Amino acid sequence: MHDLMFTKEIISALKNKLSAVPKGTKITSVNASLSPLSHVKPETLVETFGAMIKDTEFDGVILNVKVLPLEIKCRACDHRFKVDKPTTKCNKCNTSDLDILYSKEFTVDSIVM
Ligand SMILES: [Zn+2]
Repeated sequence: MHDLMFTKEIISALKNKLSAVPKGTKITSVNASLSPLSHVKPETLVETFGAMIKDTEFDGVILNVKVLPLEIKCRACDHRFKVDKPTTKCNKCNTSDLDILYSKEFTVDSIVM
């Protein structure tokens, strides 16, 4: 269900953008970032987005999704590291007392016209 929520967020960002530019301006692509914690695959998001913009004013807009690394800080040894997938152990001291520093699930980074 998250992919649907994120897709709606993208479309509302596109609508906002479109209302702020001269009429007739075409949006070509949109760049978004996804956290590995969001449980949504970039390709799923692209697919859902493609299906939702079909036959709308945004038909043809290309969605680029980038998966951000997760930034983690160990409470035991203060070590900071980045991972592509959620982890439960510090890669330095091996304890599991971790803080996730980057937790925003989804962001629309930029809209290209
Ligand atoms: Zn540690």
